[in-house]
Amino acid sequence: MTARAPDARPDLLGQTRDHLEATLLPIVGKRFRVLQVYDALYQRAAAEFAEMTELAKPLRTELAERFRIGVPEIEERRVSSDGTRKYLLKLEDGASVEAVDIPDRDRHTLCISSQAGCALACRFCVTGFWGAGRSLTAGEIIGQVQAIRRDDPPLGESLNLVFMGMGEPLLNLEGIEPAIAILSESISLRRITVSTAGVIPGIERLAAWERRPNLAVSLHAPDDARRSELMPVNKSYPLADLMKVLRKYPLEPRRRITFEYILLDGFNDAPGDADALAKLLRGMSAKINLIPANPDAVLGDRMVPPPAATVAAFQQRLLDHGYTTTVRKRRGDDVSAACGQLRAFARQPRGFRRSNLSF
Ligand code: SAH
Repeated sequence: MTARAPDARPDLLGQTRDHLEATLLPIVGKRFRVLQVYDALYQRAAAEFAEMTELAKPLRTELAERFRIGVPEIEERRVSSDGTRKYLLKLEDGASVEAVDIPDRDRHTLCISSQAGCALACRFCVTGFWGAGRSLTAGEIIGQVQAIRRDDPPLGESLNLVFMGMGEPLLNLEGIEPAIAILSESISLRRITVSTAGVIPGIERLAAWERRPNLAVSLHAPDDARRSELMPVNKSYPLADLMKVLRKYPLEPRRRITFEYILLDGFNDAPGDADALAKLLRGMSAKINLIPANPDAVLGDRMVPPPAATVAAFQQRLLDHGYTTTVRKRRGDDVSAACGQLRAFARQPRGFRRSNLSF
């Protein structure tokens, strides 16, 4: 396959209403024309200007000459026996990311990526194992949602959106901020969740946003020794500092911070660990989502989930401490779409490197 020359046309996807107006008004002349393009891009998920039949043909042709619509190409789609669909999406520079569409009764949850790769090198995560990539643009973030909406039309408008795919969203605020602003026009902010490994400066910046999505924090261990072992990021942002910032995090009434906690057999699943976790969160508006570890071949035999009875006992202990505690259902693992299994390592562009694990 010969490499395609990169497309030099600016991407319209990812431009906010004001930005789009500044870009297009000189060309289309009237504000309502700009709004027609805006709706076509974001409400109808148009991927080609030819689909904007409300515009005169010469205008469509001119727009296509000058701009592109960065809905990524679906390179591969794998459908799990439980209905979960994992997508490998190809970006303009040849990098690829994965996104997952998880159906649950009449609602779908889209798990999307914020970076192509991840520099944080968490020991349990396949994306981190394969190393740093680059941050996605707002257009590339929205493009994942649009590509899936086009491919799986029945998912309609009943969407939850979770930034739990590849990458650390709070190391890409520049991309996620406009993306969330635009996506929240059709998906309520209450249905959008940003998950972080605990990047404190990012949390502080998120706290200052006027309109905020839900926040989830990947905790995984109740003390620094074990958390640093699992997540090198904990050495830069240790638990005490992290919890201090989270305790100040502004929450709307009745909203809670979600704490994700991977259960690893014999490592962090003892009753005393549940007690320590409860103590760490004491007084906070928090809920806990337990994730029995998902194994993956590249991680070797480190990722062993505890027996079901241990998971249930751990959950019960947290419930007894008064915390809403759920156990995340494993979805899509027959197509490597489960948490921590996202990787696009086979198709990264040149210059892609494995992280060196020092942080
Ligand atoms: N960087 C962000 C966004 C990724 S979210 C974050 O760390 O929160 C991905 C979620 O899947 C995180 O909660 C992560 O800890 C979890 N995860 C990663 N690898 C996993 C594995 N092998 N088994 C179960 N959960 C895993």
